[in-house]
Amino acid sequence: NNEEEKTEDYLFKIVLIGDSAVGKSNLLARFARDEFYPNSKSTIGVEFQTQKMDINGKEVKAQIWDTAGQERFRAVTSAYYRGAVGALLVYDISRRQTFDSIGRWLNELHSKNYRSHLCSHSDMNVVTILVGNKSDLKDAREVSTAEGKALAEAEGLFFMETSALDSSNVAAAFQTVVKEIYNILS
Ligand code: GDP
Ligand code: MG
Repeated sequence: NNEEEKTEDYLFKIVLIGDSAVGKSNLLARFARDEFYPNSKSTIGVEFQTQKMDINGKEVKAQIWDTAGQERFRAVTSAYYRGAVGALLVYDISRRQTFDSIGRWLNELHSKNYRSHLCSHSDMNVVTILVGNKSDLKDAREVSTAEGKALAEAEGLFFMETSALDSSNVAAAFQTVVKEIYNILS
C-alpha cells in the first residue's frame, strides 16, 4: 500500500578506488561532512559512511566505502568490492602516474566485484565515474581534461573533474553515480 511505498528503502554500496593520495578520503569528507584535511594521512579514512540523498523525490542511501590506505600496497581486498553497485575511480590531475593506473583499477574492479554471482542484479555493471580530482591545482596540471574525457568515453564511464579543496563538482560526482544506479534499479 501507499504507506509502505513511501518508506521503501534503497541502499547502494559505492566504493572509492584509485591510487594513494589522489584525494579519495577528502572527497568523502567533503561530500558527507563538508570537511577538508590539508595534510591528511590515510588514517582519517572511515570504513564507510552512509549518506542520505534525494533522488527524484525519493530518499536513497549511499553507503560509501573508503580504503584505510591499503591501496598503497595494492592490497585492496575482495570484501571491499563485494556487493558494490557503484564506484568513483579517482586520479589526481597533477600526477600523471595516478592516471596511468586507471586501467589496473578497472581490471581489479571487474575481477574482484563478485556481486554478479550473489545477487539479482546480475545484468548490471558497476556504475563507475572517472574522477579527475584536485582541479584547483591549475598550474600543476599533468593530465588534460580532454584526456580524462577520452579515457572515460573509451571505457564507458562517466567523467568529472572535482576539487575536494574548493568543493567543485564533489556532490555532483556522487550524485551522478547514485542517480544512474537508481534509474537502472527502479
Ligand atoms: P587518499 O589517499 O586518496 O584518500 O587521499 P587523501 O584524501 O588522504 O588526500 C591526499 C592529500 O591530497 C592530502 O594532503 C589532501 O589534503 C590533498 N587533497 C585531497 N583532495 C585535494 C584537492 O581537491 N585539492 C588539493 N589541492 N589537495 C587535495
Ligand atoms: Mg584515504
